[in-house]
This record gives sequence, C-alpha cells and structure tokens, in this order.
Amino acid sequence: MKMFSIAIHGGAGTLVKGMMTPQKEKEYKTALKIAIEIGYKVLESGGSAVDAAEKSVISLENSHLFNAGKGSVFTATESHEMDASIMDGKTRKAGAVSLISRIKNPVSLARDVMEKSEHVFLAGEGAMEFASHLNYKLENKDYFYDEFRHNQWLEIKDTDDFQLDHSIKKDHKFGTVGAVACDREGNIAAATSTGGMTNKRFGRVGDSPMIGSGNYANNKTCAVSCTGSGEYFIRGVVAYDMACLMEHKEMTLGEAADEVIHKRILELGGDGGLIAIDKDGNIAMPFNTEGMYRASKTSNGIDEVLIYK
Ligand code: ASP
Repeated sequence: MKMFSIAIHGGAGTLVKGMMTPQKEKEYKTALKIAIEIGYKVLESGGSAVDAAEKSVISLENSHLFNAGKGSVFTATESHEMDASIMDGKTRKAGAVSLISRIKNPVSLARDVMEKSEHVFLAGEGAMEFASHLNYKLENKDYFYDEFRHNQWLEIKDTDDFQLDHSIKKDHKFGTVGAVACDREGNIAAATSTGGMTNKRFGRVGDSPMIGSGNYANNKTCAVSCTGSGEYFIRGVVAYDMACLMEHKEMTLGEAADEVIHKRILELGGDGGLIAIDKDGNIAMPFNTEGMYRASKTSNGIDEVLIYK
C-alpha cells in the first residue's frame, strides 16, 4: 500500500527548557496532537494532501498558543496583520494572502485565492475586499486578544524594535504554523500561516506567504513549510532552494533539508527550521534553534509530537 503521511510545525525558536512548565508543555503537545490527527484523518479517508494540510493549519490557527490566526502577535499599531499561503504539488497552483486582519483562518483565504481567483498573491485591502466578496465573516478584535501577546507588545511599543517570536527574548510562546502532507495518490501540498513579528510596521511581510521562500510544493521534489527569521528565508529563497537541491543535485529529502537549514540559512545569518515531505511520504523536520514545535504521523507507524532536539 502506498504510504501517506503528514507533518506540522508550530514555529521554531529559542525554547528554553526551564521556562516551559510541564503544564505548558502538555498544552502545546495536546494542540499539536489534535492538529496532526485532523490532517491525518483526511488522508486516511482518501482525502487530498491540500485538504489535509489546510485542515491541520486551521486547527493550529484556532489555538491561542501559536502565532497565527487567533494567537497572532500585535503590530506597531496594536492590530494584527496575518499572512498565509498554500501550494498544491500536483498542479503547482498556489494561493497567498498578506497583511490581512480579522479573518479567523487566513489559510482558507489563501486557498480561495488559489481556487477562486485568477491570481496567486493578494495583499492588504484588496485581499480583504476579496474576502468580503466571498462573504467571509470578520472577527472582533477581542477574538485575537491574548494577554501574553499584548504584554510582549507593550514591552517594545513606541520603540523601533520589532521582535520575532524566535528572538533572544527567550519567550516560550511563539510559532508560525505550517503543515505538509502526502496523500494516498502520492500528491503533496504545503500550507503556512503566521502573525509575523511583534511590533512590525511599514507593511512588513515575511517569508510565510511568499511562494518559494516560506512555502512551496512540487510533486517532483518536495512540499516545504518554513519557520524562522523571515527576512533571511526570503533572501535564501529557502523552500524553492531545497526543491532545487533535490531536482538538480539529486539530494534526498533529508539531505536537501539539512543543507538549507544547517548550512545555507546559517551562512546568511538567519535561523529557524522547516518541515518537508516527498511523494513517497518521507518526512524531514530540521531546525537550527533550540527547538521547534512539531509533529508527524505516517501510515507506516511513525506518530510523534516533539518540541526539543
Ligand atoms: N517566518 C515568519 C516571519 O518572518 C515568522 C516565524 O516563522 O515565526 O514572518
């Protein structure tokens, strides 16, 4: 039987073991477990990789624990601006949104861009207009309010600082989210969603919605979702670079993932991690930070939820 599998992440960063209480750790692991099971069930019942990846990301977006959807960080103007993308490795169709607000599940809007528009990437007011055409419900500000996130922002508001969830501040709560899946047909897909950086301004956009940088899928090579210092992932065109290493240098999934995370992104000065999958259902989840919230499940028995190395 053809193997099917899925992997998810809830962000990579400076996870300091001592700061993580057993209670917190349990909460994160439970949220990851719920999200991976949702995607896995889609695959098990014959659903597509795109459906599985989207469903898992929706589950993570609905958790206040991760920096995406409900748990998105605050911008310099005390609002939330979210980015998301999705790509189908079979057709290489893709959809992405950036600088959107009040949408509960940005990943679904990205999917609608892929499937219901002629475009790939919609941003800001235009993306919101597109959502309104599709009758998306807008959430109140309260839906996205989280005390921890707000305090994180209060500490640096009115300064020029912005803060990645991964940064030196050693916060134990962060996480762009993502999922990669391989279905029974051997089709693969990737989805990524984020609230970006605390106190970001000037319409800052990271790698998460950028096809080829933070998210990519091609049945020929791999499906990838990245997390980390977005500016470096954009410059490194990391997700596509990994696919190129497989296509042109004939690296395996694991070798290509290690090359971009343990070598190329470090050479640029960036940090973070990724999850990747190929058409045979193999999974790689490298990171060069202290930890990365992650989980994987395969039809041949791998079933794990991990935080540290
Ligand atoms: N890569 C994301 C960004 O730069 C942040 C993250 O992965 O936490 O927007």
